[in-house]
Amino acid sequence: MDEIIKQIKDPKLLLQVEHVVPFHGYLATGAFIGIQMFNIAQDVLGFRDKERIYVTCETSNCIPDAFQILAGATIGNNGMRITDFGKMAVVVNLQVPPGVTSARGVRIYLDHAKTEKYPKLHAWYLNTEKIPHEDVIPELLKAGDGVYSHEIIDIAIPVKPAKCVKVCKQCGESFVCHGDEVLCGTCTDT
Ligand SMILES: [Zn+2]
Repeated sequence: MDEIIKQIKDPKLLLQVEHVVPFHGYLATGAFIGIQMFNIAQDVLGFRDKERIYVTCETSNCIPDAFQILAGATIGNNGMRITDFGKMAVVVNLQVPPGVTSARGVRIYLDHAKTEKYPKLHAWYLNTEKIPHEDVIPELLKAGDGVYSHEIIDIAIPVKPAKCVKVCKQCGESFVCHGDEVLCGTCTDT
């Protein structure tokens, strides 16, 4: 891993890697992709470091950790949502003032038509060969933004319902309800 980190010359990228690695555990290819996606989102949407952003990751693997650390968009603060479609893709939008029902966002994905130019990255991405992180990340470094595609999209912002708490008629525990249900999620599922 140190060998890869030595190849990173951009000081901003290096600092980002140093933040993400201890959180994720190691420099995974997917975590590195998450960092590159964060930087593209920042360029496109023009948000500042630590500005509140909302992220939907289309995979549960690696990429969420980069955004949780770099953007502070976490599962616990509702800045991070994961819809696991198994895609190397994220949707990012900025916070909107109360009452505004749509936001400008960007969807960024690793584009297999563009990774073709980088054989190891391409083979790793399409899983045609087992390629170690040490061989894939240098190609991502070389490629930079060149292997990603993005599109600007409008995102509907849901109206937050008033919080309601009930005591479940079956198990007797309290739960946050979403409508007129009388059983908690656990008792509904079983
Ligand atoms: Zn219950």
